[in-house]
Amino acid sequence: MSAITLSNHAIIGEELALSWGDETENFITFKKLREACPCAACQGEPDALGRVVKPTVIHTERSFRLIKLVQIGGYALNVTWADGHSSGIYTFDLLRSL
Ligand SMILES: [Zn+2]
Repeated sequence: MSAITLSNHAIIGEELALSWGDETENFITFKKLREACPCAACQGEPDALGRVVKPTVIHTERSFRLIKLVQIGGYALNVTWADGHSSGIYTFDLLRSL
């Protein structure tokens, strides 16, 4: 398995621009990024039977305002949103799939 590297990231208007080590790029709107937040509070956790029930998440206008972006090691980005939500760890694989 070859690891993906992130060569650069930038905030352009309401979008996150990502450039990858293989010279591809993608642009993800903040809205799409927030809706894909992979944390348990947003996507749910499997119960004892392995069923995942997606919780109802209430987003406000502040939920789609990105205030901080931190790279975690060589595999993920952590995003902090203006409504205080910051538990989403977006792996590079996830970001590339958006
Ligand atoms: Zn979340």
